[in-house]
Amino acid sequence: MSELTRLGIAEALAGLARKDFSAIELTSAHLDAMAAARPLNAFITETPERALEMARASDVRRAQGESGPLDGVPIAIKDLFCTTGVQTTAGSRILDGFTPPYDSTVTANLWRAGGVMLGKANLDEFAMGSSNITSAYGPVVSPWSPGEPGAWTRRLVPGGSSGGSAAAVAARCAMAATGTDTGGSIRQPASFCGIVGLKPTYGRCSRWGIVAFASSLDQAGPMTRSVEDAALMLGGMAGYDPKDSTSVDRPVPDYRAGLTGDVRGLRIGIPKEYRVDGMPAEIEALWHQGIAWLKAVGAEPVEVSLPHTRHALATYYIVAPAEASSNLARYDGVRFGLRRAGGSLKDLYEETRGAGFGTEVRRRILIGTYVLSAGYYDAYYLQAQKVRTRISWDFRDAFQRCDAILTPTAPSTAFAIGEKMDDPIQMYLNDVFTVPASLAGLPAISVPAGLGADGLPLGLQLIGRPFDEETVLRVAQVLEQAAAFRELPPCVR
Ligand code: GLN
Repeated sequence: MSELTRLGIAEALAGLARKDFSAIELTSAHLDAMAAARPLNAFITETPERALEMARASDVRRAQGESGPLDGVPIAIKDLFCTTGVQTTAGSRILDGFTPPYDSTVTANLWRAGGVMLGKANLDEFAMGSSNITSAYGPVVSPWSPGEPGAWTRRLVPGGSSGGSAAAVAARCAMAATGTDTGGSIRQPASFCGIVGLKPTYGRCSRWGIVAFASSLDQAGPMTRSVEDAALMLGGMAGYDPKDSTSVDRPVPDYRAGLTGDVRGLRIGIPKEYRVDGMPAEIEALWHQGIAWLKAVGAEPVEVSLPHTRHALATYYIVAPAEASSNLARYDGVRFGLRRAGGSLKDLYEETRGAGFGTEVRRRILIGTYVLSAGYYDAYYLQAQKVRTRISWDFRDAFQRCDAILTPTAPSTAFAIGEKMDDPIQMYLNDVFTVPASLAGLPAISVPAGLGADGLPLGLQLIGRPFDEETVLRVAQVLEQAAAFRELPPCVR
């Protein structure tokens, strides 16, 4: 494997500036790695011609002294972001044949910064899932699976829904990837794959041109191999967008400049309610280790209380399906993608939706329409909205006493493809630590912090105040340095 695929973004940019290698060479090295990693099924669509064309243009800009902040950096794009002239599937059959004539704002921002598109990464169908097994394009296999690629002794999930993005970054196919996070889909796969995943504050990155799952929760963010890379990527993705009415008009700080390494005096909240029943001992031990690491460099751990945490999962699994059922109503066989003609208009809808949506998506539509129905709206949806507000207030109160909150990211290491599949509740429990920050719209990051007894990565999560990605990133980098996680997945060792 080419050494060029081992570089971080800052190193790659320095190498490009010194002319140690060209953007074409950097991109080619990643395209080779993608080809070698095909058994992982991390990409739905590879775009090598587009990548080389973008890399060539990047080399020209560099020669003319006109490079952008990410010029020449090869990036994988979760296939939930619309990309001009490249099919965008959302991992669903219902978007068969959909090729958007425009780019999402986030991808357009990345291309303006000089990023190079390698391809569209696999994901759970409409980003619904925690394991990347609900994709109509087949499951993604984690690069951490033991054995030879394609002849694994156990096929592990990469986490989800941004599983293709996480696998591509961990397997050194892409230097960075975009993900989206509605209830944990950036952070949980980052934890499973031993990489960094940042969900920014709701409103920090535009949702325009990203296929909608649950509009009040969806947020795009970077998936990278270091906190510094996450800071650089976020700078390229974030920003106000008049086309998204929930995007917030605030300047985008220089996130990398905020990585001072100094967390002295910062108060780190440890929420007592996150000690959930049945938390595996190794997760609890890692959490204590994280507290000790931060304390050793001058941060001050403080206990905080988030009393409504125990209602967060139930709240999320009402709000998210409700919004999904309404967002997915637009796939009717008339306007986008798949069409299965029937005798009447109603037949057309039924045939198309029956053929186009997978089991998990149908389950969410059923739950969503149920909780929004006239007879149950007050009992479920309205109640969930009230609890959601309480959860936000919990965080607001906690942030009176602390500057960032430290928790585990996920309740386990990666499981095998086939496990937890028949019981949706078991699958939903994966999100126990990630959904509260989503419901409150807060920035949160997962940093690789260690290995479980099974030799698989485990992440720690930091949650911050609204729009305080800088503190989240700064503390995360200190944690990253203390943890010194250097393990590589078997397929790139
Ligand atoms: N696992 C959660 C779900 O299935 C979160 C998904 C996401 O963040 N997109 O809804």
